[in-house]
Amino acid sequence: MHYDYLIVGAGFSGLVLAERLSNELGASCLVVDRRAHLGGNAADEYDDHGVLVHKYGPHYFRTDSARVLDYLSRFTSWRPVNYQILSWTKQRYWKFPVNLNTFEQMIGRPSTEEEFKAHLEKVRVPIANPANSEEIIISQIGWELYEKFFKGYTQKQWRKSPAELDASVCARIPLRTNRDDAYLREKFQALPAAGYTRMFERILAASPRVHVLLKADYREVMNTVSHTKLIYTGAIDEFYDYRAGVLPYRSLRFEPESFTPEQLKVREEISGHAGFWQPALQVNYPNEFDFTRIVEVKHATGQLCTNTTIVREYPADYVRGGEAYYPVPTEESRRAYSAYAEIARNEKNTYFAGRLATYRYLNMDQIVDAALDLFETIRADRSAA
Ligand code: FAD
Ligand code: UDP
Repeated sequence: MHYDYLIVGAGFSGLVLAERLSNELGASCLVVDRRAHLGGNAADEYDDHGVLVHKYGPHYFRTDSARVLDYLSRFTSWRPVNYQILSWTKQRYWKFPVNLNTFEQMIGRPSTEEEFKAHLEKVRVPIANPANSEEIIISQIGWELYEKFFKGYTQKQWRKSPAELDASVCARIPLRTNRDDAYLREKFQALPAAGYTRMFERILAASPRVHVLLKADYREVMNTVSHTKLIYTGAIDEFYDYRAGVLPYRSLRFEPESFTPEQLKVREEISGHAGFWQPALQVNYPNEFDFTRIVEVKHATGQLCTNTTIVREYPADYVRGGEAYYPVPTEESRRAYSAYAEIARNEKNTYFAGRLATYRYLNMDQIVDAALDLFETIRADRSAA
């Protein structure tokens, strides 16, 4: 069988492109993934305790894009979620992201937005154009809050000082002077009602002429599967056999632990909810322990299940051939990537898409948006050919 497109990776990028190409252009596609499941890093699954968990760390869907929302809504309905998290340090939970409630916890008495603003005016370090993740935080909230919540977490996560990372990394976290404690800024915040994996299955079910081959590296099938074009969503340095060097990535180790209702009884005082281990969906640990966060995703999925599962997330160094979860946002790694981007630009029959192939720290909605854009590029290329 001949395929118009061999697509490497069954994550958001690969599946959205396969669906668009097959439905809009009548193209045939083979999607190959070396993992055993659909969805790439956004995959979820029911674990051995019956709890729906996000396999590769928490995936909080959010978007301001009507195009992305309209597109995905063809394949899923949504469960609105107000993603709320806490930070744990110095033996207590803190309201996070930093807001007026956090300030009140710090000073140990009620306060007002005016007082908090006046305090920040005194402690913030005026910097006209914050150039890195340290500057972006201290320019808004000063050293004390930065050291309490950002410095240690970032050092653990990236094994770099915030001063070495692009401002965009810590700028992901909103800072507010009111009582709004939403972790994210986007207007639409929700999870696919039946989970991500179900949504990916529906994308595939709606895509004629798309076949999927799991547990296979594309290099094993590349030469035996006849195809016209390749779409690659894996790591770009791996694609080129690291000929311009190994790009910097951060990796992670996920350590799940599950609990029965009996085991959870003793946690009720802490969690405040029967059937839960911790008081919020996510608790960050900026200064204590080797993990950065503990996620109990049942808070967000709303699953009616008496067991629960928490996942401790440990940052890890990336080793070549291992799981590359995050490109490292620094000037130096962008320069290293540009060597690959240069080679990639000259490819005639290969398109690159997704977080790893374009070496960008993008959220799921941005990835879908980019895949929809790439589809338009491919459509234009076909018309021009
Ligand atoms: P991926 O999901 O990485 O898919 C690429 C696929 O290609 C993988 O399945 C891989 O196995 C396959 N592949 C690679 N090489 C080969 C090969 N040689 N042969 C065969 N298959 C191959 N985004 C949000 O919007 N909200 C969040 O809360 C959020 N949390 C995140 C938490 C973590 C810990 C991580 C790592 C990411 C998070 N993201 C989040 C980002 C989100 O995961 C990505 O934006 C999205 O999944 C990227 O999709 P993708 O298709 O580009 O890549
Ligand atoms: N961060 C931090 N303290 C926190 C949470 C986040 O310093 O309590 C920094 C850290 O550098 C992290 C970045 O902000 O990598 C972005 O956080 P986010 O929760 O968006 O990370 P992701 O979910 O993408 O891993």
